[in-house]
Amino acid sequence: MSQSSPLPLTHKAQVEVRQTRLLIDGKFCDSLSGKTFATIDPATEEVIAQVAEGDAEDIDLAVQAARKAFDSGPWHRMDARERGRRMLKWADLIEAHMEELAKLEVLDNGKPINEALGYDIPSAAATLRYFAGWADKIHGKTIPISGPFFTYTRREPVGVCGLIIPWNFPLAMAAWKLGPALATGCTAILKPAEQTPLTALRAGELALEAGIPPGVLNIVPGFGPTAGAALVQHPLVEKIAFTGEYKTAQTIKQATVNSMKRLSFELGGKSPNIIFNDANLEEAITGSFGAIFLNQGQNCCAGSRAFVQNNIYDEFVEQFAEKAAKRKLGDPFDPATEHGAQIDKAQFDKIMHYIALGKEQGAECVTGGERAFERGYFIQPTIFKEVNENMAIATDEIFGPVASVLRFKNINEVIEKANNTPFGLAAAVWTQDIDKANAVAAGVKAGTVWVNCYNIVDPAAPFGGFKLSGLGRELGEQALDAYTETKTVTVLRR
Ligand code: NAD
Repeated sequence: MSQSSPLPLTHKAQVEVRQTRLLIDGKFCDSLSGKTFATIDPATEEVIAQVAEGDAEDIDLAVQAARKAFDSGPWHRMDARERGRRMLKWADLIEAHMEELAKLEVLDNGKPINEALGYDIPSAAATLRYFAGWADKIHGKTIPISGPFFTYTRREPVGVCGLIIPWNFPLAMAAWKLGPALATGCTAILKPAEQTPLTALRAGELALEAGIPPGVLNIVPGFGPTAGAALVQHPLVEKIAFTGEYKTAQTIKQATVNSMKRLSFELGGKSPNIIFNDANLEEAITGSFGAIFLNQGQNCCAGSRAFVQNNIYDEFVEQFAEKAAKRKLGDPFDPATEHGAQIDKAQFDKIMHYIALGKEQGAECVTGGERAFERGYFIQPTIFKEVNENMAIATDEIFGPVASVLRFKNINEVIEKANNTPFGLAAAVWTQDIDKANAVAAGVKAGTVWVNCYNIVDPAAPFGGFKLSGLGRELGEQALDAYTETKTVTVLRR
């Protein structure tokens, strides 16, 4: 059911694109090759702007700048409270430019303006603010070892960090990594996803305004196999923090196998969302809906496998599908829009391929399943019922608005099915029985479990994956571990 596009051709007039160049050593510059690449508006398929394309030689300059900034110590030797204060100022500036940054995110990513204003930009500011608070609270310990010794630990910054992020929550993902990196005193080279470089570059300008010293934060847009790979392999980079696909994480692991680079990974998922027959059905449907359709399903912790207990299955599917059919797709800049465009043609094609596979393999598409509009990468919210565990739509991360609804009979069976995946990022359970909720929370192998809620992610709570969903944790106090080394100092007592 494709209709003509509701989008105005003047979409990019919604916001001025102020910054399209690399940020290296406190200055915006062209790439050494002079090359640029186009960043595309997924809602109109129009070119928004040409962005400087970083390659190995630009990465080298950025790493040298970060190395110099780290070794000369203007950041990690700065009074820790002052470091925190500048991060707080950066968070304030991001908030002060909320509307501009939200519009840039919408233009570059295709997400609805209400989500950019309601989550992406405020959560980036909140994450920087949370970690700014840690800057002067990163403590060592005194340890009573045997003998006439005084032993204490120091937590020191790892050093130069390469931060590689995806396109689904561009500024928020940058903040998840820059928050702990900068609070601990590290210096950084951020490589935004090639699809969405704009908000990081504008936020980089604001970081300079906030007093983050030159070389502490460098931003090099470019492609994975060139700029990304050069960052991963650079000998002066001590740590790589990566969010993206499992396969890319494997490439990064292989590329660093002969070094001792510190690695942390936030990867994909196929998260189970379990609805028992004693759940408050209305709440469970609303929650399960957000679980899969938030951000057009481009969410690493999307509840893409809904397991519904047999005797409420039909009622659940009927109401779930009714809600999906009413979801308002359209211009992401329209505040009434609930569902925007997928990020690009490649993702659009991948999602449509999985929808076709679902139909071929015998699942029943109860709503959606088609492209929406002639222009822009819009896909209708899609729900499949009678999905069995072996179908591709139940095993693979689709990263799109495609819900698979599976049946289950009892708690043991559903825990086993929930765990029957190589991923382990998140899970949810809907029930009014606290014992069942606790049993599921203990039984599922996932880094986050939500009970009667979904997608509750807070800067103070650790987030990350079991199994192929990642390594290490972001957010919360635990994130500091990924950006610090522990040094043990032992002094002979005379
Ligand atoms: P991707 O792995 O293709 O790209 C992510 C980033 O890695 C981009 O910046 C890309 O340019 C870069 N890259 C690609 N190849 C590289 C290489 N060889 N060396 C270094 N860098 C390289 O992933 P994507 O398609 O952009 O993002 C979607 C994936 O991210 C999904 O699997 C999703 O689940 C995952 N994700 C996970 C989380 C989480 O917190 N766990 C959050 C958001 C997204």
